Amino acid sequence: MTIRTVPLDEQDDASRHDDLTILVVGAGVAGLAAAQLLRADGHHPILVERRDPEADAGYMVALMPLADGPIADLGVRQEYLARSVPLDRFRFRAHSGRSLRTDGLEDVVGRYGDYRGLTRGALLDVIAGEDAAVTHRTTVTGLDEDPEGVGVTVETEGTVRTLRVDAVVIADGIGSRTRSLLPGAAPLHRVETGWGGWVAWTPLDADVDLGEELWGDGFFIGTYPVPGALGAFVGGPEQETRQGPAAFADVVRRKLGTAPPRIEDALRAVAAAEAPFFWPLADVRAARWTTRRTVLLGDAAAGFLPTAGIGAGMALESAWVLASHLRGATTETIGEALAAYESAQRPRVETAQNTSRSLARLMFRRGRALASARDLLLRVLSIGTALRPIVRLLADRPALPARQR
Ligand SMILES: Cc1cc2nc3c(=O)[nH]c(=O)nc-3n(C[C@H](O)[C@H](O)[C@H](O)COP(=O)(O)OP(=O)(O)OC[C@H]3O[C@@H](n4cnc5c(N)ncnc54)[C@H](O)[C@@H]3O)c2cc1C
Repeated sequence: MTIRTVPLDEQDDASRHDDLTILVVGAGVAGLAAAQLLRADGHHPILVERRDPEADAGYMVALMPLADGPIADLGVRQEYLARSVPLDRFRFRAHSGRSLRTDGLEDVVGRYGDYRGLTRGALLDVIAGEDAAVTHRTTVTGLDEDPEGVGVTVETEGTVRTLRVDAVVIADGIGSRTRSLLPGAAPLHRVETGWGGWVAWTPLDADVDLGEELWGDGFFIGTYPVPGALGAFVGGPEQETRQGPAAFADVVRRKLGTAPPRIEDALRAVAAAEAPFFWPLADVRAARWTTRRTVLLGDAAAGFLPTAGIGAGMALESAWVLASHLRGATTETIGEALAAYESAQRPRVETAQNTSRSLARLMFRRGRALASARDLLLRVLSIGTALRPIVRLLADRPALPARQR
C-alpha cells in the first residue's frame, strides 16, 4: 500500500518550511492528485481524509484521456497501464435488450490518448505512487479566512486542533461539507434526476475491451470492464428502486423478457450483493470556486452525473491545472493564482457537466414509445456524436509545461 497514514502533527511540521502552506481536504481522486503533484513540486501540503485507510476497491471508473497529462506528470504511467484495461469498443443496446450498434472507440477517444477502466481503489493507489502521506479519520469543522491566512479547525477522532495555513484546497467530493463552512459560500445549482441505482461486480466475459449500455423504458444498465471483472450499474426511477435491488431486477426482467447474458449477470449481481452501493443520480455545481485563499476542486466544485463518464478524468485534469497555477505562488500572490485557475478550468468543467446533463435528459426517461424513438436515434447517432462536446474538450486539453524532475 502506497498510501501511508501519518499523524497530523507530522504533516503540519513538514509544511512549516514551505513558502506557501496548503491544506488539502479529501484524499479522493482530486485531492490526492493535487497533493501528490504539489509534493512533486517540493511543497508539503497537509492532506486529510475522513475515511479509514482500509478502504475497499470501490466502484469502476472509465478514465478518458483527460487523465493522461496528470498521470504522466505524476510519473505513474506504467503503474496506470498495469492496473487498468483498455476500453476499445462501446455497445448500445435497444430498450428491448437487442444490440443496436457497437462502435470502435479508437477514432472517437483513442486518438487523443488512453481510455481505460480500473477500480477507484486501484486509481487511488496509482495516483499515490510510491508514497503518499495522509491523515485519515480527519475532517475540517471550521474555516476562518482573513487577509493573511486561514485558521482551520481540524478534528481527528474527537481530538480538535487548529491549524494556520496560507490556502485550503477543498476536495471532499460531491456532498462536500467543507464547502458549506466558507463564509458567504457560493450558491449551489443542483440537478436531481429522480433516478438512482446500484453498483456491483460481475465476472468478466470474453468481451474484455467492451463497455455496454442499455437505455431502457424506465431503467438503465451499464457494464464496464476493469481488470478481471465487469463493473455493473443498474438504475431506475427512485419510486421503483426504493423496493430494493432484487425487486427492481425483477421489474427490469419483466420488461426485457429474455435478457442477454451480460445484462442478466448485472441484474443477478445487484440482486445478490449484500449491501450494494446505491448512487442517487444528482449533480451539483458551485457558482464560484475560489475565495482569496480557498478553492473548490473536483466534485466539490462540480459533481457529475455518470452519463458522460468524465467526473474522475475532469477531477484529475483540474488537480493538474491547479497544481500548475500554484507553482511559484506565494502567500501574497495566492489570490491571483486561484482566480487564474478558476478562469482557466471552470468553463471546461462546466461544458463537460452540461454534456452529462443533456445525456441524462435523454437516458433517464420512461415510456415505451419514447424508448423506441430513442432507439431509432441511437441507431444513427454514433457514440462520437453523442459525446461531441467531450471530444472537443479532449482535442483542446490544457498544454502545461512539463515538470522538472
Ligand atoms: C459509481 C460511480 C461510478 C463512476 N464512474 C466514473 C467513470 O466511469 N468515469 C469517471 O470519469 N468518473 C466516474 N465517476 C465519478 C468520479 O468518481 C468522481 O467524479 C471523482 O471521484 C471525483 O473526485 P473527487 O476527488 O472530487 O471526489 P471523491 O473521489 O469522491 O473524493 C472525495 C474524498 O473526500 C473524502 N471526504 C468526504 N468528506 C470529507 C470531509 N468532510 N473531510 C475529509 N475528507 C472528506 C471522501 O472520503 C473521499 O475520499 C463515478 C462515480 C461513481 C459514484
